[in-house]
Amino acid sequence: MIQVEKPTELLREESLPESGPKAAGADKRIIITLVALFGLIATVALVLLYVVPYYGLGAISVHLPLVMGILTGLGAVVLLGSLALLCVVFGLGRDIYFSRKLRSVAIRLLLPILICVGRLVGFRREQVQHAFVAVNNELVLAQCRNGKPLKSVLLLMPHCLQDRDCKVKVTYKVQNCKRCGKCTIKNLLELSEKYGVHLAVATGGTIARRIVIDTRPDLIIAVACERDLTSGIQDTTPLPVFGIFNQRPFGPCINTLVPVEEVEAVLEQVFPEGRKDSQ
Ligand code: SF4
Repeated sequence: MIQVEKPTELLREESLPESGPKAAGADKRIIITLVALFGLIATVALVLLYVVPYYGLGAISVHLPLVMGILTGLGAVVLLGSLALLCVVFGLGRDIYFSRKLRSVAIRLLLPILICVGRLVGFRREQVQHAFVAVNNELVLAQCRNGKPLKSVLLLMPHCLQDRDCKVKVTYKVQNCKRCGKCTIKNLLELSEKYGVHLAVATGGTIARRIVIDTRPDLIIAVACERDLTSGIQDTTPLPVFGIFNQRPFGPCINTLVPVEEVEAVLEQVFPEGRKDSQ
């Protein structure tokens, strides 16, 4: 395993987000609870949608309440059925019949709703985002294990990992890194060579999207802050993205860190046969 060389000034006390396998059970519970709560709120809204105009519609035509009832009932079956299926998928940690497409839609639409529902019951936005990424990661790994062998993997890193005093331009070509060891770019470069995967450093969401379009990977292992990671996962779905939160001992966007061993652990899982030829 590649050793991470942490610059001594970066070994300060830091408040790190909880991540990794230990968080999986709690994260699942948070997401499933929020999905169930949303289902409850949606049920109340649908009942009101039916009951409130019931009498007014009856005055227009005797058939309209029945039509409204059928439409509301169909909406309820589709919505609540989808939410129930998602709860099963999140609970199992793997896709079942028809669920992958549904999950893709849910990733785009459901997260903002879950953040709002979470706020109602006292969860911070970051807690929901962490839980969402953890649950997504589990599903992505299950998808990799059960799908075709991966041909290409992209390690997509934020520019703030680079030492802020470094003058080398790694965003254009990461191989420009002189491997001085002042930041984790050196370790990531070694990791990308060891596993024969593509490594790219992006300065923002637009560049990241461009890199994804250019490289067309089967899997992205992305490192970013809560906001960028969740929006990146939403933007690139249905492309599988395994997300890892960066660590920010100096505050946002300055000399951030990534646990390289966590990145390597993901690569070990998706390439159980070991090292691949370089791409
Ligand atoms: S490891 Fe590479 S990117 Fe980081 S400070 Fe050294 S030369 Fe710059």
